[in-house]
This record gives sequence, C-alpha cells and structure tokens, in this order.
Amino acid sequence: MKPHDGLYLDGAWRPASGPAVVDVVNPADEQIIGRVPAATAEDVDTAVRAARAALPGWAVTPPAERAVRLAALRDVLAARKDEIAETVTAELGSPPAFSQAVHAGVPIAVAGSYAELAATYAFEERVGNSLVLHEPAGVVGAITPWNYPLHQIVAKAAPALAAGCTVVLKPAEDTPLVAQLFAEAVHEAGFPAGVFNLVTGLGPVAGQALAGHPDVDLVSFTGSTAVGRRIGATAGGAVKRVALELGGKSANVILPSADLARAVAVGVANVMSNSGQTCSAWTRMLVHSAQYDEAVALAAAAAAKYAERIGPVVSARQRDRVRGYIEKGVAEGARLVAGGPEAPRERGYYVSPTVFADVTPEMAIAQEEIFGPVLSVLRYTDEDDALRIADGTVYGLAGAVWAGDEAEAVAFARRMATGQVDINGGRFNPLAPFGGYKQSGVGRELGAHGLAEYLQTKSLQF
Ligand code: NAP
Ligand code: MG
Repeated sequence: MKPHDGLYLDGAWRPASGPAVVDVVNPADEQIIGRVPAATAEDVDTAVRAARAALPGWAVTPPAERAVRLAALRDVLAARKDEIAETVTAELGSPPAFSQAVHAGVPIAVAGSYAELAATYAFEERVGNSLVLHEPAGVVGAITPWNYPLHQIVAKAAPALAAGCTVVLKPAEDTPLVAQLFAEAVHEAGFPAGVFNLVTGLGPVAGQALAGHPDVDLVSFTGSTAVGRRIGATAGGAVKRVALELGGKSANVILPSADLARAVAVGVANVMSNSGQTCSAWTRMLVHSAQYDEAVALAAAAAAKYAERIGPVVSARQRDRVRGYIEKGVAEGARLVAGGPEAPRERGYYVSPTVFADVTPEMAIAQEEIFGPVLSVLRYTDEDDALRIADGTVYGLAGAVWAGDEAEAVAFARRMATGQVDINGGRFNPLAPFGGYKQSGVGRELGAHGLAEYLQTKSLQF
C-alpha cells in the first residue's frame, strides 16, 4: 500500500489545506514507513460539506442498490486481503497470521454482513394504524482507534452506508494507511462521490473538529473513556446522537466445575492476542481459592510460550504506559509470575507477556484498562464473591464464564453487568451486538443492532 499525500474528499484524493503531516511508524523496528496529511478543521469542514451534499441522493437510493455497493466493497476488500494484512502488520505490528485471520478476515465478513442486511432489513414496518419508516440518521462523523484499525472502520462505515447515511472518517493517527486502503476500496466499489470521506490527522485537531461540527448528525466514537466522555458531552450540548465504544476490564470467571486447564489456556491466549490491545480482552482471571495455585502455574507457563511470538504494542507511548502499569502492579504488592517491565528486545515497542498473581480487586492493575499483554489472576471464595469482583469496575464490556455444564455458566452470565459473555470459549459472532454496560459505552455495533444505530424513525398515521 503506497501512502496517499491527500485526503479522500468528495470522491477524489485532494490536497490538505495545510502542510502538517503524520509520520507512520512500524512498531516492530521503529522505522518510518509512510507519511499522511494531518487534516485541519478547514479540511474537516470540506469533508462534512461533501457528506451533506451527498446525503439526499444516498438516503433515497433503494436499499437493494446500497446492498450492491456494499457487496462490491466486500469483494474489493476480499481481493486485497493480503495487502490489508501486510498494511496492518506494518503499521500496528501484529504477526502476519493474526493480521490475515483477524485484521483482514473479520472486516471482510462484517462488510459482507451489511451487504446482506441492507438487502433484507425491514426499513418500514406497520404498527397498528401507523407506517413506521426507519430513515438514515444523516451525516455520520466516525472516529476510530488503532487496535483493530480496519475492523473499527468497517464496523462504523458499513452499517452507516447500509442505512443510507453519509460518512466522514477520522482514523487513528497511528494506523492511517489501512484507512487509506479502505477509502480506495470504497472508490473502487463505485459509491457516489461524497458518500464516504476520509480525513487523516490528529485527534485534538481533526477529531475534535469532526466531533463538534454543527452539520454532523451523529458521532460514532471508539477509543478511550477519557476522550469518549468529552465527545459525549459535546454531542449532548448540541443535542446530537452519539455512539461510544469505550474501554473494558473484563472478567474471565472460571467456576470450580470448569475444565481448568482449557479455561486458563484460552484465557491467556485471549489476553495475549493482538499484544493485549483488545478492548474486550479478559484481563482479569477469577479463580476459586481451592484451584488458585494450580491456575497461576498454568497461566505463567502459558504466558511464557508467547514470549517469542507476541508482536509489539503500537507505539512508544503505549509501551511506556503498559510498562508503567507493570511497575505499578509490583509496587502495589502483586506477585509477578511471568514477564515484567524490562524491555524484552533492543528494538521495537515490545512488552513481555506478563502475569500477576495475588492481585486484589482494588489494585489499579485490576481496575484500569492497561491495553497491553498483562493478565491479573484474582481469587474468589464463592459465586457471589466472584460476581462482586467481576462487576466491581466502572466497565462492563465483555467477559467469559467457564463451567462443567453450559447451564451453570449461563446462569452466572445472566447475573453479570456486561455487554457480552463467551460461554465455555464461545466463538466471536460478527452478527451479535457488541457494546458496553456502564462506562464501557453507549450503543451497539455489528449486525442488525449496529445498523439500527444509524437509523431514525418517522411514524405516519392513517
Ligand atoms: P484515544 O485517544 O481515545 O483515540 C481514539 C480516537 O479518537 C483516535 O482516532 C484519536 O486520534 C481520536 N481522538 C483523540 N483525542 C480526541 C479528541 N479530543 N477529540 C476527538 N477525537 C479524538 O485512544 P488512544 O490514544 O488510541 O488509546 C488510549 C487508550 O484508549 C488505550 O490505552 C486504551 O485503554 C483505550 N482504547 C480503547 C479502545 C477500544 O476499542 N475500546 C481502542 C483503542 C484504545 P489520535 O489517534 O490522533 O489520538
Ligand atoms: Mg490518542
């Protein structure tokens, strides 16, 4: 993927209004691999005007035709799968096999799911003597993070386009190249000019201008709770809709009847994949006191196996932040059983796969989102204690429950205050609603629920 030196505005690559650029760095070797424009507030305004101008035409385009464009988009992404994977590996640092399967594979599946949903969704319904129309919400400002860079873009752009909305995207400054690739794919798929626009650049400049733009109807943000809170406040002030996918500190609850070895192995893999940079990662493992020592030994051994194959974290800033948390865990009295704060390699933003034992629920490493390959193992005495610990953070994004039989795990999952729970290692479902309880966010992404976020209703009475 050769970087563009322009912004994708109104159907073409156009120069930014200012000279500022963002360097893109490969976190595995710290080399600069590209340079993209840093959009100004003026550029964001140009993008929003293009999206506004394109809205009336796209909003009345029959859903079946929108579906044809989305299917074409899916096909272009599928044809460029290798290039997507290579681009994400270069700018995020994730190992090639993971980039192929997840960073490229999941967004292709999600784009395909919205091609289907656009064709089949009931955009009109009869309710008694009313006809209810589900109309596009309008111009969407999408702001995305770097951790699953293409997935986060597709999880917003595909449902918005399926709904008949037009989009301005501000991707993360650390991973703009796959966003440019996505804009190329939109272009190739034949969407009308202005329906999708890309402004690369910095959060406090381009992101803030987009989130606060008076002509944006709906802001969809994924990232940190700190930024999400501000975006929510700005949107509230302007009485505009907002969807927020924020942080998590999810619990992996292993009940005494579970297959302990399997639950621990899958739990460690879940935290170490993508170098721990997954908002829904099960970063707290909850184990019954009778099985605690055995679980800690299994977790330490499992984590050690990742030392050679784990990728770097995205940036020097993120590496320093994660190492800071590891030091904090030691200072708080938790016991390191794998990894630690030392740099495992001379070059690249690597962090050792780390496991802490003797973690208590009030420690910062058990409360705050670390966003790195760091697992905390906590002990509980009975199920009520496990539930109290599992729900004892400001977050509620995801979780896991393991038990000897499914019904027992489901009974526990029903009591948890969280948006999604994997039962005995259940697989990711790209059609299931994804989003958080409590401070993990507002709204849901993926599947029909994700499409509904981009619709507003009008009732006609007869
Ligand atoms: P972030 O700062 O919240 O960034 C997310 C997106 O928002 C990026 O596109 C960012 O631009 C933009 N942004 C930043 N400040 C903004 C502002 N004032 N107004 C509008 N947009 C703004 O998150 P991050 O720096 O990438 O990561 C920090 C922490 O967030 C992580 O350590 C993790 O805890 C959490 N996080 C959560 C998720 C999730 O999926 N829930 C994903 C990523 C990160 P820039 O890229 O230019 O900063
Ligand atoms: Mg940031």
